[in-house]
Amino acid sequence: MRIREIVITGEPVLHRPAARVERFDDDLKDLVTDMFATMELAPGVGLAAPQIGKNLALFVYDWVDENDQQHRGAAINPTIMLEPLSVDPLDEYEDSEGCLSVPGERFPLRRSDRVTLTASDIDGHEFTIEAEGWLARIFQHEYDHLLGILYVDRLVEPYFADATAAIQREGWGKPGFSWLPGRDHLEG
Ligand code: ZN
Repeated sequence: MRIREIVITGEPVLHRPAARVERFDDDLKDLVTDMFATMELAPGVGLAAPQIGKNLALFVYDWVDENDQQHRGAAINPTIMLEPLSVDPLDEYEDSEGCLSVPGERFPLRRSDRVTLTASDIDGHEFTIEAEGWLARIFQHEYDHLLGILYVDRLVEPYFADATAAIQREGWGKPGFSWLPGRDHLEG
């Protein structure tokens, strides 16, 4: 197991669709093990393969809900069905998202309240999860990564301008930036 470098916005792999996983082999198991460890140390509640520089359609997630129930797994070649976006006004606290590839920033974003995720697990067995609330948000965020979309791409004003300014201030938005959980202390 090794902790992987997390690439930062501007790295091309984050901004293009990920390729399907074709082989459910030991390499895939090793990759998923590394992704869980990297996510845990970061720390984060989700991590998609493009975020560690792998152009592959999979993500891992690990989140404990308000009833202390743990939601943890690997979603390989996922598809997602969304309910229409809620029309409630954005809440700067309740709706704020962060991303390990835009470390240290958080901005509110409207998401669907409910989604249905279908994916393969590490052994190639298909599963379906109906998620709501924060788990639904995690799935939408991670699935977006596999389309080459970051949450900051979806922000509305004034948050889009704020995020753009923050990324410029850090000098990101071009290839070559990454950070290593456990060495660099940047919160997602
Ligand atoms: Zn992210």
